Order: sequence, then structure tokens, then C-alpha cells
Amino acid sequence: MNARASLDGHRPTRDARGYSDGSSAIHPAAVRVVDGAGIGDRRRVRADACVIGTGAGGAPVAKELAEGGMSVVMLEEGERFTTDDFNARPRDMMARLYRDAGQVATVGNVPIVLPLGKSVGGTTLINSGTSFRTPASVLEMWGERFGLEALGATELDPFFRRVERIQNVMQVPPELAGRNALVVKRGADRLGWSGDFIYRNVRGCVGSGICTFGCPTSAKQHVGLTYLPLAWNAGATTYTGCRARGIETDGGRVRAVEATTAGGGRLRVECQLIVVACGAIGTPLFLRRQGIGGESGELGRNLSIHPATGVRALFDEEIDMAKGVPQSYFIDEFADERIMLEGAAGPPDYAAMSFPFAGERHRDLMLRFPGISQFGLMVSDLSRGSVHERAGLTQIRYFLNADDVATFKRGIELLCELYWAAGAKVVYPPIDGIAELHEGDLRTVRECELDPRALTLLAFHPLGTARADARPGHGVVDENLKVRGVEGLYLGDGSVVPSSIGVNPQITIMALATRLAYHLLGREPPRDEPAPEAIAQPRITRPHAVTA
Ligand SMILES: Cc1cc2nc3c(=O)[nH]c(=O)nc-3n(C[C@H](O)[C@H](O)[C@H](O)COP(=O)(O)OP(=O)(O)OC[C@H]3O[C@@H](n4cnc5c(N)ncnc54)[C@H](O)[C@@H]3O)c2cc1C
Ligand code: SF4
Repeated sequence: MNARASLDGHRPTRDARGYSDGSSAIHPAAVRVVDGAGIGDRRRVRADACVIGTGAGGAPVAKELAEGGMSVVMLEEGERFTTDDFNARPRDMMARLYRDAGQVATVGNVPIVLPLGKSVGGTTLINSGTSFRTPASVLEMWGERFGLEALGATELDPFFRRVERIQNVMQVPPELAGRNALVVKRGADRLGWSGDFIYRNVRGCVGSGICTFGCPTSAKQHVGLTYLPLAWNAGATTYTGCRARGIETDGGRVRAVEATTAGGGRLRVECQLIVVACGAIGTPLFLRRQGIGGESGELGRNLSIHPATGVRALFDEEIDMAKGVPQSYFIDEFADERIMLEGAAGPPDYAAMSFPFAGERHRDLMLRFPGISQFGLMVSDLSRGSVHERAGLTQIRYFLNADDVATFKRGIELLCELYWAAGAKVVYPPIDGIAELHEGDLRTVRECELDPRALTLLAFHPLGTARADARPGHGVVDENLKVRGVEGLYLGDGSVVPSSIGVNPQITIMALATRLAYHLLGREPPRDEPAPEAIAQPRITRPHAVTA
């Protein structure tokens, strides 16, 4: 069958307008943001609660607490960017929107780039919008392994529903998925592999293909467009350019947060309640500096990162990865082997940065960009890393263990098989020493002795460095995300998630953060939240054992 004809003959299952639920974007009555660059003196504010960090965890907590009647101050180290600041140029945007210009990386047996956000909205501003619930089997394993029965699928369901409604989670329609996803789907269908179009938090997406560098149309519903405007409407204030430096306690109870400002001043927030949500890298370092949270010996340990790589393939048909939603299709056929395949397309300058080639080979591949497809694979890791501070600099140690290396090898081989089934002419595995594959070759990857240093890896999902465990003496926080040993101190970000979850984590973090706010307000779960029409259910039936 002619490949192009089969794609063009694809019948969309729903109208493109179905991508919007008809509800309009959230416009705050007032943007309650104070820029720390303008604070050069000492300033003191009072609030019921101070939330540190405005990402996937911090923003929902702040919004729910403010709507619940508390006065809330949010501290954010980064700046606030609006859609007008986005120019769709990956290099410029990485320098502005990413922490350390996107150069955060792990040290270990293979360097792994670990990009993080640093702005109002945290990493949600630069993420792909992929929205999965925590697989029920993973939550079940948390109950057995960490005593977290309170976080079961039934118990979290109202919180997932609330998050999905506020974030406007909906499925990518095939006509916006882009040809990159459609060729991969063609390969998966021919092999009989399970997959589907991804669910994402968007409103009116037009498939402009640049989600991780600032959505230029405000379609991607990062928390700076959803939770934070709702928090401001409820009276909360965000202080940007304000880096929390210390927590003051009195008699074992929190009293205040001290922050330095981008203007060279100091801000003191006096409060009875503090929620730290600096992300899985920032939170353990912040707590350690205070000498808090270390009793269990788990602080800064148990880092899972969901490491990822990508396989490229050349087709003799037009793919044009710059068009369509970059991460629009997933394949969960191998999820029980800890392998999740997800889209990883993007414009030429993104491809130029991410292709693991140099010199003539790089130039040659870039000249063929219109016919190149790229798809990602993520391994739900058994390896665990740790977070440290050396001379004021963050150090992330992570050694990829032999099991995970073998799983990468298996995943790369599977993606090669998929591309051959889809009709690729040349396949480029991300393994140093294997330049390119021809004519259905799978043996070269299968028979190679894979050294981890030969892999080109990235990771986007750091979790677990202050993990929750209901058993005293085990986790940094309990099942209600309270830091053991300090009254009034809670964690509300990816650091509490106790294991790799096998899927993208933003919805997990938002649901846990929402549950935390309900707990702090003494409220019953929002059981009257409407159920979504459908939710993605990745086929993870056997969550892996936790080694650490
Ligand atoms: C390129 C990319 C694509 C991704 N795509 C997806 C996706 O499609 N789907 C998905 O589910 N997940 C995705 N993720 C991951 C997801 O966005 C994160 O897991 C999630 O945002 C983490 O939430 P968090 O609250 O733990 O931290 P963050 O969202 O990172 O928020 C932490 C915030 O705290 C601030 N902060 C840190 N220290 C301080 C301090 N001392 N004082 C004040 N503020 C401080 C930071 O500046 C930051 O804004 C992606 C990540 C990346 C990098
Ligand atoms: S594909 Fe384009 S319009 Fe859609 S969310 Fe991504 S950047 Fe925004």
C-alpha cells in the first residue's frame, strides 16, 4: 500500500473543534504579581500560608488554599513570562525559560541532560502537555510498599477529576497529531501494538509544534494560565524573583520564610503554614540547608528520573516534524517491560540541537529534515540517584544500572522494528558507534554490547527525593505530605512521589497537591467533580519492584 495514501486516507474520529470544550480561557480580574527585582530593601508580609514554588505542585496548593479562605503568598525564584515573550525560537527560549539555560545534567556512568523550568508556572511552562493519571497498579504498589493506601486510585479519583477539569485535559485529534505521529501509528498498527493519541491540557491547540519552548498561542494550559489566575482571583499574591533561603521555626512549629529578592533585598513571610514545592531537585536541597527532614535518612535519595532517548528514521515521504503536536501519540504495548514510547517531534532548530551527530553527518541529516521522523522512548527506571550541593552548586548523581541499560537496548530495538514496519528507508539508533541501519536490520542493535556511555540520554521527570511513606522513620513526609518533626511544614511537588510511575507525572503531582490542600483545609474530597468522557489508561499492570 502506498504509505502517503494510507495516511491521507486516515479518517479523523472527531471534529477539530472538538478539541475545545467550549469553556473559555481563565482571565484573572487582577494579576497579583510583585516583581522581586523591585524589592531592594527589607520587606515583611503576613499570610496564613506561604507556598514556595509555582509549578505543577505549588500552583494547585496555592489556588485551593486561597479559594478555601486562606491568605496565601507564593514565592517564585524565576520571572513571570507571558505569551508575548515567546518567539518560537528554541535556542532563545531555552536560555530564558529553562533553569541554567537547559544545561542541568546528572553525573554518573552516563551524563543525562535533565531540563527544569524556572519561572511562574515552573516546569509546566515548558512541558509537552501530556496528561496521564498515575496508573492504578502503581498506586496499588505504593500501598503495599510504602503504606500509602490513602493514595489509592479510588481515593485520588475526585482529585484527578478536579485537576483534569481545571487543566482542560483532552485527547489530541488525529488531524492535529502531525505526520510524525501518524507514520509511527502506521507502524504500530501493522505490528498490532497498543497505542493511542495522547491526552493533553490544552485549549484551542493549533498544532504549531513548539510546546516545550513556550506555546505561542496560549493553547497549552500550563499552571500560569490556569491555577495561578484562579489563585490571584481568590486573593493570593505571587512574588517573583524571590528565592526562599530559610525557614524559621519556634518550638518545632514554622513561623516564617526568609527570601532574597532579585533586587538585592530581603522578603520575610510570616505564616503558620509552609508548603515547599521547589521540585524534586530544589526541595531536598532547600530542606537540607535548614537541617530539616533528614531524620529518616531518605532526604535527597531515591531520585528516579524516567530516562529517555529517541530513535530517528528517514522516509521517502514528507513527515515535516515541525507541523502538528510534537508529543501526540503513545505506545504502551511494552509498559509492563518498563518501556513507554511517546512522540518527540519538533522544528528544525530543535532537531539540530537534539540529533546526536556532528559535522558532515549532522549537516546531511538536517538537509533531509522534511523526511525525518523522531520518536521517544522512556524507561521506568530501577536505578536511583541522589541530589547534593557542592560549593553552592547542585550536583545530581545518577548511575544507570545494568537492568535499565538492557531495557534501553530492548526499547531501541523495538523502535527500530516499528520504523521498519512503518516503511522507513534508514533508521538511526541513538547508540554511539552504530551510525545507521538499512534494510530492516535489527541484529546490529540486538547483538551490540551496549555500554551506557554509548547512549544519548535525557530525562524530564525527576521524582522521589523526599518521598512519602506512611511508616514513621521511612519517608521524609507522611501520607498527608507533612514533613516529620516540624509542625506546619508540608511538601507539595514531585519530590514526594515515591517511585517512578512509568508515565509523565504532572497530573500525579497536581492531584497530590490538590489532596494536600483539601487536607489542610479539613475538607472532604470533591466527589461532585464531573467525570471526564474518557481518560488515558496506559497498560501498566506490573509496576516494577522498587530497589532503593
Ligand atoms: C521539556 C519538558 C517536558 C515535559 N513534558 C511533560 C509532559 O508532557 N507531561 C508531564 O506530565 N510532565 C512533563 N514534564 C515534567 C513536568 O512538567 C514536571 O514533572 C512538573 O512540572 C514538576 O512539578 P514540580 O511542582 O515538582 O516542580 P516544577 O514544576 O519544576 O516547579 C518548581 C518551581 O519552584 C521554583 N523554585 C525552586 N527553588 C525555589 C526557591 N528556593 N524559592 C522559590 N522558588 C523556587 C522553580 O523556579 C520552579 O518554578 C516535562 C518536563 C520537561 C523539562
Ligand atoms: S502544538 Fe502549538 S498550539 Fe498546540 S500546545 Fe503546542 S505550542 Fe501550543
